[in-house]
Amino acid sequence: MIGAGAFGSWSALYLLRNGFNVTLIDAWGPGNARSSSGDETRVIRSTYGANETYFDLNVKALALWKENQAEFRRTIFFNTGVLWFCYEAKTPLVDDSVPFAKKNKMEYEYLTGDQLKKRFPIVHTDDLHHAYFDPFGGYLKAREAVQMVCESFIGKGGKYRQAQVRPGKISSSQLTGITLSTGEQLHADAYIFACGSWLGKLFPEILGNIITCTKQEVYYFGVPAKNSLQFENLPVWVDVDGKDFYYGIPGNSHRGFKLGVDIRGPEFDPTSGEHAYASPTLEKARTFISHRFPDLKHAPLIENRVCPYENSPDGNFILDLLPGTSNTFVLGGGSGHGFKHSPAIGHLVAEMLSGREKIPPLFNLKK
Ligand SMILES: Cc1cc2nc3c(=O)[nH]c(=O)nc-3n(C[C@H](O)[C@H](O)[C@H](O)COP(=O)(O)OP(=O)(O)OC[C@H]3O[C@@H](n4cnc5c(N)ncnc54)[C@H](O)[C@@H]3O)c2cc1C
Repeated sequence: MIGAGAFGSWSALYLLRNGFNVTLIDAWGPGNARSSSGDETRVIRSTYGANETYFDLNVKALALWKENQAEFRRTIFFNTGVLWFCYEAKTPLVDDSVPFAKKNKMEYEYLTGDQLKKRFPIVHTDDLHHAYFDPFGGYLKAREAVQMVCESFIGKGGKYRQAQVRPGKISSSQLTGITLSTGEQLHADAYIFACGSWLGKLFPEILGNIITCTKQEVYYFGVPAKNSLQFENLPVWVDVDGKDFYYGIPGNSHRGFKLGVDIRGPEFDPTSGEHAYASPTLEKARTFISHRFPDLKHAPLIENRVCPYENSPDGNFILDLLPGTSNTFVLGGGSGHGFKHSPAIGHLVAEMLSGREKIPPLFNLKK
């Protein structure tokens, strides 16, 4: 297994639990700061508009996060709920998931502007039509979770190596081996490349135009001391404005009021790209945050992160054979929403290699 981000680590752990002999290799370490999984926290929500596959995948993932955190004896999932700020009477991204929520007994609460204002007085609501509150979502500790999964993998006898991997030659539909930055060569029955934003660079001719990387900015603002608890106790929120798609994780392990922007940023090199914010992007975010949360008008920036989005062409994950091979898989394309699903993806990888499940066609590599 090459790549110890969320997808690779969970897959390695589930493969090991299913009796496979697994070596997990990462160039910079599990949950490293260059990787997509390396930030502090990630949103978990089932809401996916009319896409029932992702709704169901998240329901499965949610159960696995809970089951595994009980085993790890550490809280990774924070069930704060997710608050959707809706501008129009109809908001398909949320409305179209309502039937799935009903089916799974995970119903949302509809809040009028007045109810929203009363319940969350720190939110400016005048430009919102209503909100939905999903009490089943929340946030996950990201970097820490990946590191815990790897610790568990190693603790149960999995082999871990820190080295950069270069794929060897493909001959008769077989990848013949991999070379580590230490100079060693390793051989296996199967290889899984779960290398996030690096996949396009690793296989430029095959994946160069399929997996692309953009620079995404995340800010941590300092909340006022006078109502810090009011901010901390706010659920995760998503502003469905149809443009920038700001979202936030208010509690965020006491690291500040986290604000992210989902609109795709400029192209980014995940190895050499500098993790510095762009002033215009920050200023735009400040304008938004002072509008939506007026008490944060003068909130200082206390930390910022840059994370690479590992975009697939249609935003769907990729789990498929590397074209031209029968022993090598590509796992990735999280496209800015993969973290929450990662235990379910790891479980699926193990089921697939055990011959018990087929990969959903949605995850096929589309050339
Ligand atoms: C700003 C931002 C916000 C996001 N918000 C959310 C959210 O709220 N909810 C959600 O569910 N998802 C979210 N995501 C998406 C989610 O974080 C990713 O989909 C997920 O972390 C991808 O995991 P991965 O394992 O595929 O990739 P990565 O975490 O990038 O892991 C890939 C690993 O491969 C290693 N590697 C690369 N090349 C090599 C090589 N040649 N040899 C050895 N190792 C190598 C790297 O070191 C890295 O550790 C967000 C992403 C970003 C960037």
